[in-house]
Amino acid sequence: MADEWVFPKGELMRGKRGLVMGVANERSIAWGIAQQLAAQGAELAFTYQGEALEKRVRPLIEGIGADTMLECDVTDDGQLDAAFATLERKWGKLDFLVHSIAFAEKSELKGSFVENTTRENFLRAMDVSAFSFVAAGKRAAKLMDAGGAMVTLTYLGAERVLPSYNTMGVAKAALEACTRYMARDLGPEGKRVNAISAGPMKTLAMAGISGGRGLLSTGREWSVMKEDTSMEGIAGCALWLLSDLGRSTTGEVIHVDAGFHIVGVPSTGDANE
Ligand code: NAP
Repeated sequence: MADEWVFPKGELMRGKRGLVMGVANERSIAWGIAQQLAAQGAELAFTYQGEALEKRVRPLIEGIGADTMLECDVTDDGQLDAAFATLERKWGKLDFLVHSIAFAEKSELKGSFVENTTRENFLRAMDVSAFSFVAAGKRAAKLMDAGGAMVTLTYLGAERVLPSYNTMGVAKAALEACTRYMARDLGPEGKRVNAISAGPMKTLAMAGISGGRGLLSTGREWSVMKEDTSMEGIAGCALWLLSDLGRSTTGEVIHVDAGFHIVGVPSTGDANE
């Protein structure tokens, strides 16, 4: 089904402009979301980290008629300021933000959380994967009018213990809490902040997790729908949250994982169970 996916076209995002952070390649979740938003008429700008990514991502974004690429390592306040200042000069206003960024050292995404986690890497994972949403969201909100919306990407490892996810699970828990506090602060201004808790997807970020394939196959086998999470579903949820359809929804963590998160013990398929 994923191979046949055609992004539903429409006008839901016509007249809206947004920044997408976190496209590394054509498998990135941010790229799936970007294509869906563009198919609904959104005008998009993208951030990238480093020259190599610029070269890889530029052909993708040109394919959907976008041309604005801003360098932005989210751990660098100067680069964040410069990226949003450029957007302000170009567009004046911003309607939405997609934050799809995370990082933890590979050495920590395996084995014992207690043994493998160092102070330096813990703080870096928190900075890139959680605080960066606050840092980017604060700057984005200043360019938004009422009706503005933001989404970030999280994972079940924030709520439950999963093999190898370790430091990243702790960072995702912080990210989900950040989502709620940001929603509280920006709500009175009419701006919404939500998180999508996506099921496992084959991306570069997933490749960095020891045993990531196991998360993928278990995700499929244990999910109540008995299928992989689809990019269609994730992008569709982002479209809903970022468009006016999502009005009144804020501070939520919405699971898009074929129902994996509701399962305590998986069914065996035995008719008598
Ligand atoms: P991805 O394609 O590797 O995207 C991760 C992005 O984060 C990359 O563009 C990466 O850029 C960027 N990034 C890392 N450190 C950065 C920094 N200091 N400054 C700016 N950008 C930085 O993988 P993905 O799976 O689509 O991940 C996107 C989001 O979805 C992440 O938050 C991830 O945790 C979340 N998520 C993924 C899954 C999954 O199964 N794949 C499931 C649930 C949630 P570089 O390549 O330059 O480092």
